[in-house]
Amino acid sequence: KHDDEEEDDGSPTKKQHGHGEKVATHYNTLQETGLAARSQSRIFYMRNFNNWLKSVLIGEILDTVRQSRRELSVLDLGCGKGGDLLKWRKGHISRLVCADIAAVSVEQCQVRYEYMRKRGHPNERIFSAEFITADCTKELLTDKLKDPKMEFDVTSCQFVYHYSFETQQQADLMLKNACERLRPGGYFIGTTPDAYELVKRVETLDSNSFGNEVFSVTFQKKGDYPLFGCQYDFNLEGVVNVPEFLVYFPLFEEMAKKYNMRLVFKKTFSQFFEEHIKNDQHKMLMQRMQALEVGINIHYQSKVWTPSHSRVFLYFF
Ligand code: SAM
Repeated sequence: KHDDEEEDDGSPTKKQHGHGEKVATHYNTLQETGLAARSQSRIFYMRNFNNWLKSVLIGEILDTVRQSRRELSVLDLGCGKGGDLLKWRKGHISRLVCADIAAVSVEQCQVRYEYMRKRGHPNERIFSAEFITADCTKELLTDKLKDPKMEFDVTSCQFVYHYSFETQQQADLMLKNACERLRPGGYFIGTTPDAYELVKRVETLDSNSFGNEVFSVTFQKKGDYPLFGCQYDFNLEGVVNVPEFLVYFPLFEEMAKKYNMRLVFKKTFSQFFEEHIKNDQHKMLMQRMQALEVGINIHYQSKVWTPSHSRVFLYFF
């Protein structure tokens, strides 16, 4: 029994349980906007860029694990409304488990999945899926899986892991959820903001906040960056306005060793872009996804509202 499995009544009134509910409420009340409305948004291109990056990362990792297994199982940890469902479909996986703290998002994810299955070609074998609402920083997913012995080839945690760094116990439990059911040779992939970049930016300014007309990052306190619970508020054109926590990467890497994980690579979004844009197929996908504008901004480090302060990471077991 690990020390992260301490008794937990789930009460949000305890100090260390403060933010999960806020995060869930925030994502639950986000409106579903159609493609037309989304394309009007100033962050349209940035979201497209993020999607391009996730598509390439997921595609590459599925190709890698497929070299040793044909039928692939994936855990989408913090799946949201199912923004990556099409990527799993394109990657021809066999089984998907989607988990998120926000019940409404999980429902929307399930509706999307069922719609995808209904509309799919009768000859297409679309993966089977299971949907779990859980605070993955406090609840063990194995207790909620239909098959508690289920194993995964890939865990994908896209723009989520930083919510867990509120306390050591929460960060550890989310890591456990991500890794304990991975098969040997499986991968844990993800994207999370770059703590170095965030601190560097706020430290070079007089105020405790930085950003522009599109986004802002506000630290509660400057000059003091604890390893856990180092909170900042992130606002992106009203789309995200929730407390997040810095993830100190060397600590994260160290913590992952407990679950027999070894870091394969971590890269900033701009490094990832530079490396992958040389490939014609990835470049064409980027053009199709209308993401090139952001990509070029990252490449030349010109405008700062691009997601260049994000990092991609990849673990394997
Ligand atoms: N991964 C999806 C994507 O890339 O489109 C959604 C990313 S969204 C920025 C962050 C997601 O993390 C939200 O859906 C939120 O509900 C989920 N989340 C935050 N804290 C969580 C927790 N403790 N357990 C499970 N999910 C959590």
